[in-house]
Amino acid sequence: VAAARATDLSKVYGQGETQVVALDRITVEFRRAEFTAIMGPSGSGKSTLMHCMAGLDAISSGSARIGETELTGLKDKKLTQLRRDRVGFIFQAFNLLPTLSALENITLPMDIAGRKPDKAWLDRVIQTVGLADRLKHRPNQLSGGQQQRVAVARALASQPEIIFGDEPTGNLDSRAGAEVLGFLRNSVRELGQTVVMVTHDPVAAAYADRVVFLADGRIVDDMAGPTADSVL
Ligand code: ADP
Ligand code: ADP
Repeated sequence: VAAARATDLSKVYGQGETQVVALDRITVEFRRAEFTAIMGPSGSGKSTLMHCMAGLDAISSGSARIGETELTGLKDKKLTQLRRDRVGFIFQAFNLLPTLSALENITLPMDIAGRKPDKAWLDRVIQTVGLADRLKHRPNQLSGGQQQRVAVARALASQPEIIFGDEPTGNLDSRAGAEVLGFLRNSVRELGQTVVMVTHDPVAAAYADRVVFLADGRIVDDMAGPTADSVL
């Protein structure tokens, strides 16, 4: 079973003269332990696809699944549970709580859910994102790149089935961006995570195993192929 799958997924905003078809019968599968980049011009539907797949936005027709779970028709409570327990997000703004330490930020969603993080997994995640010596620091004591690494660790902590990133390196300089992308890639290869990320940046997309291109709400190209691993 794929980590997530859209089948004939359409998303229409508004109605009548202001109607916009943001996604036009999209079919795409995100396989486990694969790192996919979504590219395309502004307004092509990239964010909408993320939001629909992550259960943040209702779809208009077709199907969106996380694992075997169909999102359409899930009651609010079930949808909240799914977003909390099975999906991770990384946004352009890091969305960290300023009064909490890095470690407290990482475990916060699980604390709220009353779940205990798996200690061994948490240690691996912290090693993978290179934060072992920054756990007690608060966000304002960390660089932008380190703050985004905390957000990556927070998304990984609950071992979600899939992580969605909406321009996760959009606010970072190229060096910090490269670090965060390297950690995302390592989380796919070493921890078996599934990651789908929207990016404008072809250099960022080079970290992915696969690049899906959108234009006008449709998939116009889907390239799986060698990554930089084969040339570095
Ligand atoms: P991208 O992420 O590729 O820039 P979006 O998914 O944000 O594209 O937007 C796709 C289309 O849907 C655009 O035409 C945009 O104007 C429209 N759109 C996005 N969100 C809304 C909304 N909340 N209401 C109306 N139209 C929207
Ligand atoms: P390490 O392998 O020491 O963890 P990095 O953190 O630099 O090294 O890289 C993490 C992953 O990102 C590796 O799979 C690496 O091949 C890949 N990677 C590094 N630099 C680039 C790049 N410029 N473009 C695409 N992928 C890259």
